[in-house]
Amino acid sequence: MVSRVIPVEPFDLVVFGGTGDLARRKILPGLYRRFLGGQMPPESRIIGAARSEMTEDEFRAMARAAIAEFVSADKRDAAMIDQFISLISYVAIDAKGDGGWATLKGMMRKGVVRAFYFSVAPALFGALAERLHDHNIADAKSRIVVEKPFGRDLDTARALNATLAKHFREEQIYRIDHYLGKETVQNLMAVRFANILFEPIWKAQYIDHVQITVAETVGVEGRGAYYDTSGAMRDMVQNHLMQLLCLIAMEPPYHFDPNAVRDEKLKVIRALDPVEHQDIVRGQYLAGGGQKSYVDHSENPASKTESYIAMKVHVSNWRWKGTPFYLRTGKRLRARTSEIAITFKEPPHSIFDDAEGWRENVLVIRLQPNEGMNLMVMIKEPGPGGMRLTQVPLDMSFAEALGEDGADIPDAYERLIMDVIRGNQTLFMRGDEVEAAWAWADPIIQAWERKGDKPRGYEPGTSGPEDALMLLHRDGRRWREIRE
Ligand code: NAP
Repeated sequence: MVSRVIPVEPFDLVVFGGTGDLARRKILPGLYRRFLGGQMPPESRIIGAARSEMTEDEFRAMARAAIAEFVSADKRDAAMIDQFISLISYVAIDAKGDGGWATLKGMMRKGVVRAFYFSVAPALFGALAERLHDHNIADAKSRIVVEKPFGRDLDTARALNATLAKHFREEQIYRIDHYLGKETVQNLMAVRFANILFEPIWKAQYIDHVQITVAETVGVEGRGAYYDTSGAMRDMVQNHLMQLLCLIAMEPPYHFDPNAVRDEKLKVIRALDPVEHQDIVRGQYLAGGGQKSYVDHSENPASKTESYIAMKVHVSNWRWKGTPFYLRTGKRLRARTSEIAITFKEPPHSIFDDAEGWRENVLVIRLQPNEGMNLMVMIKEPGPGGMRLTQVPLDMSFAEALGEDGADIPDAYERLIMDVIRGNQTLFMRGDEVEAAWAWADPIIQAWERKGDKPRGYEPGTSGPEDALMLLHRDGRRWREIRE
């Protein structure tokens, strides 16, 4: 199956924070891959901006090094890299200062899409928005892309929304959640809403429970001081896991239109019950395997910040009443994996004697590694052993299903940047969605802060704290194994 590449309009993209980690690892290599794939037209321009005084050649050399480091060898075409690099320029700008803006204005062209990627600390978003506006650099069609974290609670998210709204309309603001840019996540909507197969059974009557797992093997090395002010709830649950939950639980939108989709997601967030204290387990990784503990990494021996969280969540509406959603995410776990597993109920009556062989149907949606889907179904065990049951996966790995092209599934960032240029906000969070998610998360965070609970220690390389197992055991269920 050959996927179609539809080029976007030519654009001017300014990357504030162009010398930073995100720009080097994701944004510049991603743009190069879209250029190589024929989606980014050669009439486009990329302008890096940061405080560092650098010549254009120095910035280009940095971009070239980033491509060498973060683009796989089979995609590094010398002539294409040269051509891509020739589209890049640089301007030294302090977001809070007044120098450099006139130069930037002079670099912007008329008649092309203007996009401004705020790949800087959120504290600078307001200053950037204000200066883009005051220096007349942003026009009515310009777009701004803002990175996470979008606030650390409801008040800060509201303040940030209000600051951006002073200079940009909601249709111009693209709040990135890179989980939404993953192929599988979009396929989840296709599978749900382009097939009749699943919809009739997509409800509490047939679904026993849902597990959403985002497990990492790395710790907070290097980001310890920042992470200690955040924790797994703020860093992962309020945004990424919440977005995945929304896509599973939402009602069919009337059309695949940005506001229709986001309206439905918002309704899910508003239908979430408050989470009881006993339905949350928080953990902190201990030292092990020659690696430091969480408190060593964060250099805060008294830290009460969680590097792991598991919780049981209820969506209180007609479709989901009685079906729990179990969410968990953590660092320094056994494997790096992200998946959503939907476990169906047992048939109302079994006609087979082989009760032992029976297992639930599970639809597993893998986000990483190997994006794809797996439906666990019961079949007759092959061979002459009589009518014995066995479970087999109906496996669909997207890379295989899409043939040669599948191996080239665009990274979430590249896909999302192309959506910004196309002006498609479907996969970006709307301001009210972000605020609703904080309104749900805030009381949970405040409750444990009030109690002053310290997270449970867990051994690195495991599935997290023992107590998390109990969260499901006491409901007669089990977590899926964390493995690649
Ligand atoms: P970083 O490596 O610390 O880079 C920050 C960038 O901002 C640098 O280019 C820096 O360059 C520039 N900068 C700092 N102060 C500035 C100012 N006053 N005016 C203009 N530019 C300024 O950070 P990062 O990891 O790239 O992260 C950027 C943003 O993305 C943050 O909001 C972060 O939370 C978010 N994010 C990052 C990742 C990731 O994987 N790195 C993932 C998700 C979200 P100068 O020092 O030269 O000014």
